[in-house]
Amino acid sequence: MPTGTVFTVAVNPKIPPRLARLEELANDLWYSWDRSTRSLFSRLNPSLWGAVGHNPKAFLKRVDESLLWKAAEDQVFLANYNSILSAYDSYHSEPVRRDGAKGLKANDQVAYFCFEFGFHESFPIYSGGLGILAGDHCKAASDLRLPLIGVGLLYRQGYFFQTIDNQGNQRVTYTDSDFEDLPVAPVLRNDGTEVRIDVELPQRKVEAKIWRAKIGHVTLYLLDTDLPENSADDRDITHQLYGGDRSMRIEQEILLGVGGVLALQEMGIKPTIWHINEGHAAFMMLERMRGLVQQGLDFPSALEAVAASTVFTTHTAVPAGHDQFSDDMINTYFQKFYHDLGITREEFMALGRVPGNHDFNMTALAIHGSRFHNGVSKIHGNVSARICRDLWPQIEPEENPIAYITNGVHVPTFLAQEWSDLFDRYLGYEWRNNMCDTEYWSRISAIPDHLFWSVRQTLKSQMFYGIRARLATQNSRNHGSEAHLDRLLKSVDPINPNILTLGFARRFATYKRATLLFQDLDWLRRIMLNQERPVMIIFAGKAHPVDVPGQDLIRSVSQVARMPEFEGRLFLIEDYDLRLARRLVAGVDVWLNSPVYPLEASGTSGMKAGINGTINLSVLDGWWGEGYDGKNGWAIKPGPENMDPALRDREESKDFYETLQDHVVPLYYTRDKPGYSSGWVKMAKNSMISLLPRYNAARMVNEYTEKFYVPASRQGRVYSENDFEGAIKTAAWKAFVRKAWGGVRIRRLDTPAKRISFGDALHFEVAAILNGLKPEDVIVELLICRQLKKSKLSEFRHFRFEFTGVEESGEHLFALNLTPDLCGKLEYYIRIYPYQPLLTHPFEMGMMVWL
Ligand SMILES: *Cc1c(COP(=O)(O)O)cnc(C)c1O
Repeated sequence: MPTGTVFTVAVNPKIPPRLARLEELANDLWYSWDRSTRSLFSRLNPSLWGAVGHNPKAFLKRVDESLLWKAAEDQVFLANYNSILSAYDSYHSEPVRRDGAKGLKANDQVAYFCFEFGFHESFPIYSGGLGILAGDHCKAASDLRLPLIGVGLLYRQGYFFQTIDNQGNQRVTYTDSDFEDLPVAPVLRNDGTEVRIDVELPQRKVEAKIWRAKIGHVTLYLLDTDLPENSADDRDITHQLYGGDRSMRIEQEILLGVGGVLALQEMGIKPTIWHINEGHAAFMMLERMRGLVQQGLDFPSALEAVAASTVFTTHTAVPAGHDQFSDDMINTYFQKFYHDLGITREEFMALGRVPGNHDFNMTALAIHGSRFHNGVSKIHGNVSARICRDLWPQIEPEENPIAYITNGVHVPTFLAQEWSDLFDRYLGYEWRNNMCDTEYWSRISAIPDHLFWSVRQTLKSQMFYGIRARLATQNSRNHGSEAHLDRLLKSVDPINPNILTLGFARRFATYKRATLLFQDLDWLRRIMLNQERPVMIIFAGKAHPVDVPGQDLIRSVSQVARMPEFEGRLFLIEDYDLRLARRLVAGVDVWLNSPVYPLEASGTSGMKAGINGTINLSVLDGWWGEGYDGKNGWAIKPGPENMDPALRDREESKDFYETLQDHVVPLYYTRDKPGYSSGWVKMAKNSMISLLPRYNAARMVNEYTEKFYVPASRQGRVYSENDFEGAIKTAAWKAFVRKAWGGVRIRRLDTPAKRISFGDALHFEVAAILNGLKPEDVIVELLICRQLKKSKLSEFRHFRFEFTGVEESGEHLFALNLTPDLCGKLEYYIRIYPYQPLLTHPFEMGMMVWL
């Protein structure tokens, strides 16, 4: 190296006028799901394309100008370019509906806040499942022309790059993004200056710049504090995703929540529906309340107004996984808010309080500040309802306001090109418009088996090529010999990809049990090393740099991969990211998942696999608990939750071994057709047919729209109309009910009948002490169903009592006549709870008294 100072200069090519719109394509994350756009760039210079991490914008700044000029004269390139532009234009020609489509009102707009967003490997502001889900939400919203904008942070360093050394140690490298190379642009005012906002932190103001990214029809706004105007510490706030200590985290969350609201205000954007994806963004509610209090509303009414239009999605399945901060820290950062909101410190802390816990919990804040809450699968909805039960202390978790909307994946992003080509041929182009039609997708069964199989083999062979390249790099970096590499790659044969290949790729977190299959290595050997029916397993995944047990898992996998008999059969591939994910989910034959039930909130990689005809073998947890139908894959039934963990691992690993040896391996290798197993193809088709229309992001976003966005828009309006009349009334009513509720009692007046004949009426009568409430403030209700061993609340039918008068004692009387239309032994209950029609959920107050 020369010894002098390094000076650098970037030489950017001029884009030939004929190809001018390449810039436009490079600046719209449409390319993250439009593969032909990506190939257009890549074909210009494949090695540069690889070197810039598949980033079209960075590519365009570095590609040789002569190549561009050559392309501008190349008829084939031009034809390709023009057909992409015409697809691009037709996608963009139909604008977002702001006139009340899908049940929304004119001018409704959803603001979707998330800590990370994953669209494509070229835009590293994501770490894993949560971010990719958020990315898919935006992509599907764009496809559906839903009026939605995203709000997030622009990290200088996204998640790390991973290498793994010979001992299985994870090595972590962070690289700085050059924002000039990312598909983002600063938001400018009319006068051409940058939009900036100030966010207050203790003893200082931090300035943030706002960037925007275009995801088809959706705009994502990203905040950035790395500005010369800020102190070094404050510049670091947006330095790293999930980096730094607790102060860094709270500052990031304040920037996202509080700063996000200020940024939208500054740009004149007025969302009517606010969605926070995971609790990180929950401070958003505080800033919105502060705005309303400044307008003259009292705090309780401001809270009602904000909550009415807010949706909160939780993704965590263990209480410890919820983001929380110490009271001291909250006090340091939010003192000024107490004053601005006109409440005491205790009232403020109560917003983040879970009974029995001392810290300020972001999930509690998110729930207190929203009226629409959901988990991300049926199982996870129930788990979340149980975890959060204390926030509605008198309500059974089965009935509390935590619903579920199961995750989905963006099909155009994750469906391999070969499949979409085959669908074009066999289903016609309109398959894209029938994404959620379960009936429609049964047409896949009409695709000839041999064609279906050949697509599967092509994808596997592509994956093998990719893995060979990665393993070669890994091997040379770890100083392995050529001979060693040859040995490793012997079975990874793209020409003849006939080895049953299992894939396991996800974050290395302990609950995901990456090493479950190593419980009995002898058994695993017998399954994998059979001469006639060999099996290969591919592992990949990152562990968070401070997650020591996660890194131990990587070491264990690496150790087994290095055992002589598993060498060349069991691989650990470095640097799991979106690109590797797309390859693996489509390329392997079986997708494994072995979480500890019920800790997998949803999981999405198995959905990506399933839509590509890869068959899932998974514990019945998360999405697979509802996705598995007996014919579309294999399921491992989890042991009871209170089982000893070691015993549970043993039992469940046995189930895995047995399923593999008795079902998976025989089905794959029963080649009753030239080169393939028709039973396998049948199951792979079942997987696609059953999963594609249900676990796609369009279904998910439609469900959010129907269940949450439309009602949140309505509640938001009802609460804010006429100077917040609805919010004020609700807040006052709730305060009144809270005071009275402790004294509310009911007792039964009629004599319970033990036995009646079918057709006879039952008469029920109760007397209630309402402690100042009026009869119209409560509902007295009877729940009845046929007696079962263990009756579920959802199985009961509900009947309301009528108010019939007041006793001299002041007790209110309620009566109900009911003629059961069932025979047999019936079971019934009577209860009273506060109610008024403005409420969003009948049990949102968490109050109920049972007789
Ligand atoms: C889909 C995906 C995930 C999430 O997968 P899970 O099954 O939910 O763990 C994580 N990382 C990448 C790169 C993905 O593509």
